[in-house]
Amino acid sequence: MKVLDLRCSHGHGFEGWFASNEAFETQLSAGLVECPVCADTRIVKLLSAPRLNLGNAKAPAEAAASSAPDSPGKAQLPAEMSPEARWMRAVREVLAKTEDVGERFADEARKMHYGEAEERGIRGQATREQTEALLEEGIPVMPLPIPAALKETLQ
Ligand SMILES: [Zn+2]
Repeated sequence: MKVLDLRCSHGHGFEGWFASNEAFETQLSAGLVECPVCADTRIVKLLSAPRLNLGNAKAPAEAAASSAPDSPGKAQLPAEMSPEARWMRAVREVLAKTEDVGERFADEARKMHYGEAEERGIRGQATREQTEALLEEGIPVMPLPIPAALKETLQ
């Protein structure tokens, strides 16, 4: 399973799930990949989104921590957030906007999809198999490894 960061010609960013890069290219050339905001099919692929990888993906925090300190000659860009900061903010937003349903995640996602439960943002644990089954049923889910540091502050 590949998660790709995509962008339409109007600048809308979104994520797409594909079986492989080839599957993406095939669907793209067939005009099957469209922007969820404006239905534009002129889609470009951005760098892949490692934070959304299934399963045991590591949070990018460690990579960021080991990056070299800024050299004196290097211009500072204060407005630019580091990938780590963006990632932490994104996770916090998800945590703030979602209800933790724990191990009932797959059940709850399925119930909402079939109209048996109220539509809302949820988060919880799902196995890789559960996640793939949900995606195959057309239920949009987003695997999101939570950084250990953030997890601890929540408990
Ligand atoms: Zn668009």
